[in-house]
Amino acid sequence: MKVLVLNCGSSSLKYQLIDMSNEEVLCIGLVERIGIDGSILKQEKDGVEGKLVVEQPMNNHQDAIKLVLEAVVDTKFGGVKEISEVEAVGHRVVHGGEKFAGSVLITDEVMGALQECVELAPLHNPANIMGIEACEAILPGVKMVGVFDTAFHQTMPKESYLYGLPHELYTKYGVRRYGFHGTSHRYVSERAAAMLGKNIEDTKIITCHLGNGASIAAIDGGKCVDTSMGFTPLEGLIMGTRCGDIDAAILPFLMEKEGLDAKGLSDLMNKKSGVYGMTGISSDFRDIEDGAKSGNELAQVALKAYVQKVKKYIGSYAAEMNGVDAVVFTAGVGENGIGMRADIASNMEFLGMKLDAEANNVRGKERVISTEDSNVKILLIPTNEELVIARDTLALVK
Ligand code: AMP
Repeated sequence: MKVLVLNCGSSSLKYQLIDMSNEEVLCIGLVERIGIDGSILKQEKDGVEGKLVVEQPMNNHQDAIKLVLEAVVDTKFGGVKEISEVEAVGHRVVHGGEKFAGSVLITDEVMGALQECVELAPLHNPANIMGIEACEAILPGVKMVGVFDTAFHQTMPKESYLYGLPHELYTKYGVRRYGFHGTSHRYVSERAAAMLGKNIEDTKIITCHLGNGASIAAIDGGKCVDTSMGFTPLEGLIMGTRCGDIDAAILPFLMEKEGLDAKGLSDLMNKKSGVYGMTGISSDFRDIEDGAKSGNELAQVALKAYVQKVKKYIGSYAAEMNGVDAVVFTAGVGENGIGMRADIASNMEFLGMKLDAEANNVRGKERVISTEDSNVKILLIPTNEELVIARDTLALVK
């Protein structure tokens, strides 16, 4: 079966066409500037030089998906001859609230429940819904599956997901911790158990998804018991442009001092903070590393603060689980940041973590990067959220 995996953002759309008979990626693409001047689609196919580039106005997701469906049958860069070969579509959905603890076949009832989750993720879920509706219109009868970023974290116990706030805010508005990047945490924890040669039920794993957005999860026996992101993807680590954990009392203070309203505060914390805000340089960790190397003190401090936060979560999750078998690094920084991994894993011998500097000198390859005698294994595992979405889609439509 060939599965189209769609990840719809508000003005962008990432996609992959995967042949599930051998899990081969047939083609991979990105549409940007949907609904904005300069809409563009780019698609690549493994083993074929160059790129398919389509520059054409796209007013909405339906326009974009129409072009995606033309692109996937392209004779040079496409993955199938006829669109009828695409038998199912898997959609990434950011927020499933408490309604979805696993992936689901999309039905009218599910669409209704998704609408109810919009309030919890007003920036992300509407785009996901638009993608599903556009597919329904263009590919009537083709089965679709929703795979949620929050689902994997639904196993968290109450003590992990409830805030120290009045309980009625949870019952009235759903104010609780949900956690995100669940598809990635799930994939790398399953791979980690396989690499350890253990049953996942017998493992305690800490997964560090360190990308532009970053989160850490504590996974005991294959179930998430805690994670660093919360009600929204803002909580937890210092990120590219997001502040992560801060004293909530800073918000009313800044409202008064800077005259900020809710939107202003949200922009400040989500888009103008993190290593970008701390340094004024960039949200890209490579630029911050360059800045630090050339002596920029703010860049040096930002990196140290970032590393310290990751260490803090690893330590606290090891304490929460009464031990840890493996620490996994994944996503942009986790997969490519050789120096960042080394800094995070340094001075962690007390916990049983010993990094092998030579094995760590690699980017984007699945491998053990701890020493033979390290009690806690340190693993580098490139994430593959699209494959999880495709696998879940196959399992549900079969
Ligand atoms: P992601 O959100 O997973 O795509 O991660 C993107 C981020 O990974 C970028 O913003 C960079 O900060 C980071 N990144 C990519 N390559 C490297 C690298 N070689 N060293 C450090 N960070 C990197």
